[in-house]
Amino acid sequence: MKVLVAVKRVVDYNVKIRVKADGSGVDTTNVKFTMNPFDESAVEEAVRLKEAGKVSEIVVVSMGTAQSQETIRTALAMGADRGILVASEAELQPLAVAKLLAAIVAKEAPSLVIVGKQAIDDDSNQTGQMLAALLGWPQGTFASKLVVDGGKAEVTREIDGGLETVALTLPAVISVDLRLNEPRYASLPNIMKAKKKPIETLSPADLGVDDAPRLVTLKVEEPQRRQAGVKVASVAELVNKLKNEAKVI
Ligand code: AMP
Repeated sequence: MKVLVAVKRVVDYNVKIRVKADGSGVDTTNVKFTMNPFDESAVEEAVRLKEAGKVSEIVVVSMGTAQSQETIRTALAMGADRGILVASEAELQPLAVAKLLAAIVAKEAPSLVIVGKQAIDDDSNQTGQMLAALLGWPQGTFASKLVVDGGKAEVTREIDGGLETVALTLPAVISVDLRLNEPRYASLPNIMKAKKKPIETLSPADLGVDDAPRLVTLKVEEPQRRQAGVKVASVAELVNKLKNEAKVI
């Protein structure tokens, strides 16, 4: 069984985001990029399925600038077999990514597509769902546990107040939560081996997809700074402040 995993290159989660002075977006100059953390869990899960003998090939795909190759290499070092880069300089929005993934699915015919629940840069949480709709495939979103057996998958998902388990017939799309697993660090020998694994480069035109953005970003701004708190010496002082300063009681 073949698995396709989508990995996005995003600003590292440790980086303090700077908004551009004109409010048009996030300043990405001299900023560290890494694989979207949810996608690390997606790759890890695919590798575990391969180690368990349930998957024969893992193909990772990333869409974006040429630097997205680095993200693909990281996935290859974790254990994926080969990569596909869809090279584009456009601002790729979830619908365009879902269409590109759907075109790759048509080419590669995987039994399972695993994506992250969300990309931490745009926080869209849309790509997996759009892909399932475009393909007409079942979807299991926000997986915190995945069991694949025969032509079926069971996805456990965290919902308000508990866990829900859904059964899917493959082929299917699964989006993963961080709780699913603890992604491995690639070992040095595996990083070296990954350099020899193949990466195919395609363009959106090769896949017959128009990747132009459909949404316009009006403004990006930093959250308002919170004011420093004060310590009160007694409950009486707290009540007094709530009553006379904050006027909430
Ligand atoms: P989003 O809908 O943007 O929050 O992204 C959800 C998931 O879709 C990500 O965790 C990735 O697995 C996948 N994805 C989104 N954008 C890309 C991209 N440019 N390249 C590869 N995968 C992507």
